[in-house]
This record gives sequence, C-alpha cells and structure tokens, in this order.
Amino acid sequence: MMIADNIGRVREMISEAAVRSGRNPDDIILVAAAKMKSAESVREAVAGGVDAIGENRVQEMLEKNREGAYTNAKLHYIGHLQSNKVRQIVGLCDMIQSVDSPELIALIGKRAASLGIRQNVLIEVNIGREPNKAGVLCEKLPEILEQAAGFPGVFVRGLMAVPPMIGKINTNHNYFNEMYNLFVDIRAKKYDNISMNFLSMGMSDSFIEAIGAGANMVRIGSAIFGERQY
Ligand SMILES: *Cc1c(COP(=O)(O)O)cnc(C)c1O
Repeated sequence: MMIADNIGRVREMISEAAVRSGRNPDDIILVAAAKMKSAESVREAVAGGVDAIGENRVQEMLEKNREGAYTNAKLHYIGHLQSNKVRQIVGLCDMIQSVDSPELIALIGKRAASLGIRQNVLIEVNIGREPNKAGVLCEKLPEILEQAAGFPGVFVRGLMAVPPMIGKINTNHNYFNEMYNLFVDIRAKKYDNISMNFLSMGMSDSFIEAIGAGANMVRIGSAIFGERQY
C-alpha cells in the first residue's frame, strides 16, 4: 500500500515536470531502483505501475528472479557490471544501462549473438569525470559507439549517468544539461546500430531537475521504497 502510494506521488511529480518542459508525461519511463529490497516489495512496485525494475547486483537479481519478483515486469540492470557476470544477465534483462567499456560491448554482443537475440543497452557516461566512478568519459563515447556498430547483438538505445552528488541542485543541473547535449549530438550523428531513444538520469532527490533538462528515463529508489537500511 505504501509503495503504491509513493509511486502515485512520484508519477504526479514526473507529470508536472514533463508538462513544464513541454513533454508528454507518458514519454517518461519510471524505473524503480530496487537494490536491497525484497521480492515482495518489488512485486508491489510492479503492481503499483512502474515501467521497469532496476537492479544493481547480479547475485541479488538472480535470487529475486528465482523468487518470482519480476513476473510481468521489465528488468533493467543499473549497477556496475563485471565482465564475468555478463553471460548471466544478457537476455534476462530488457536493458543493461551500465555499459561502459569496449570489452563489455564485445562480451554482450557475443553472448547475445549466441542466444540469437539483440540486447538493449545504454552507455553509462562519467559526466562528472570522477576518478572512482563507473562510466566512460565523454571524449571516449565516439569510440565505443563505433565499436557497437560491429556487434549486431548489441543495440545501443541511449545514455545513462549518475552525476556527482553535491547536494546543490544548480550543480546537478549543469551535469544534466551536459548529458542532454551529448545525447542530442549523438542522435544527430546517426551511428549504425544505434538509436538514441533514452536518456536515463535523475534519482529520488534529483528527478525533477533531470526531467527539466531532458531526461526521459528516471531511476528512483528511496522515494518509492523508503530509505534503504545499510
Ligand atoms: C540506487 C540507485 C538509484 C536510485 O537512488 P535513490 O536515491 O534511492 O532514488 C538510481 N540509480 C542507480 C544507478 C542506483 O544505484
């Protein structure tokens, strides 16, 4: 009940932000970030009408999958992806949002080809250039996008980012704008095998600003499920 109510409130805020920026609320995809939340909570979120469930850890995702958490749900992988986990998630996830190296493109491409599928992915960008953070630096994007053209099993659908947490909305806003500019530039270039459909950015404390800057996919955890107990 609480989760469904939270989703209702989040949807309302998403709608208002979309309308303010001249867009259709239906075009904004709501991904519930479910790390450390039970299969039961995930099922509540699915019933509450989120568009997809996002998971950060492969092991946790496989366990919850066995518990039937993702029935009737789209599943997105949003955490750091190690190469030795690729085979376990290609085909299981509708989208892998956190692809950030040529190695991952190649591994996902080969695995998808062997399954006879096309795996949707987003390229994660380290927009704040933070040394210890996942994601490609923006100057490396052309290289990775050109490489993806050589792997028909990989279908690049957009970009994802987790900008630096500074607590200041204005600072965030610049990163969101930079991401939107990258997204639009790449879309205009028309690379082979790439369709810039999704710009995934914005979390519980920043999704309104992210939508204002052009995000059409937001990943929201605590505002849906409550605070995580670490
Ligand atoms: C946890 C997480 C989110 C959601 O964070 P909240 O602040 O709880 O909304 C979004 N994206 C990624 C990659 C995450 O790991």
